[in-house]
Amino acid sequence: MDLNQVFINNEKWIQDKLALDKNYFDNLAKGQTPEVLYIGCSDSRVTAEEIMGAEAGEVFVHRNIANMVISIDLNVMSVINFAIDHLKVKTVVVCGHYYCGGVKAAMKQEDLGFLNPWLRNIRDVYRLHKMYLMILKMRMKNITN
Ligand SMILES: [Zn+2]
Repeated sequence: MDLNQVFINNEKWIQDKLALDKNYFDNLAKGQTPEVLYIGCSDSRVTAEEIMGAEAGEVFVHRNIANMVISIDLNVMSVINFAIDHLKVKTVVVCGHYYCGGVKAAMKQEDLGFLNPWLRNIRDVYRLHKMYLMILKMRMKNITN
């Protein structure tokens, strides 16, 4: 998808929204009252609103590689704080997905440069709980077969 197509698509989206509701953007500008905070993966195949069937204004979203919530990550902790204390969301969803490239990358013993410190969180969980994860994997395999 080239950048010109992005602008064309955006203009069409604006016109489509206005055709359905001429006050669409005026209403959105009034504020947001989402009831859900969604924390998911940055993966381009997993779009929060689309998989939940939500409309603009219904879900507060944070995405990062492999949908991680790390207590020293000021970005995610700020999102959680704002969502709970200020937006008063009722539900927090941390959503993983199949075939996550971030998790797959973390499972490799490969130097991934800038990604190493981020993926180390998954690598540590895997290293510390490897036996349990292997048992879980075997049980899952038995259930699906
Ligand atoms: Zn992912």
